[in-house]
Amino acid sequence: MGKPMLFAFALGAALDAYAALEPEPICWTAGSKADQGSDYCRSCAERRVWASFAAVPSPGGLFVDGGWGGDESDGCAHCADCDCILDYYLTDFGMESELEHFHGRRLGAPVSRETAFHIARVIEAAPENERTLRLARRAVAKIPTELEAQGNG
Ligand SMILES: [Zn+2]
Repeated sequence: MGKPMLFAFALGAALDAYAALEPEPICWTAGSKADQGSDYCRSCAERRVWASFAAVPSPGGLFVDGGWGGDESDGCAHCADCDCILDYYLTDFGMESELEHFHGRRLGAPVSRETAFHIARVIEAAPENERTLRLARRAVAKIPTELEAQGNG
């Protein structure tokens, strides 16, 4: 493993440690009445299935699918109902669109934990890409030091 790769993993690890999020795996609804293509957390997916039971006298046609974790996504994955962050890996397409999303955008000081998590997924998708490295370095620079975090509280 080359030095740039190690550097990328260190940046990703720093962002993930700061984010300290343990997002749920992505769930879907499946079946004849499914809203294909939307991602949900498990409880929102289950709520939709129960709502469909209430709406239609005979159950069926909708069930919860997915939830195994490790799913690829073409962008940052959020629950379509409650907007919580879900666990995902970025596809190449997703990595490019996230780079575009963050290009020229201020990251905020300190960077938010959610943004740190999303940028960790970008560097994870392309650890040897100069643009992902630059973005991750920008984000790590906006992680508050322990003193800053305790200070103005
Ligand atoms: Zn949800």
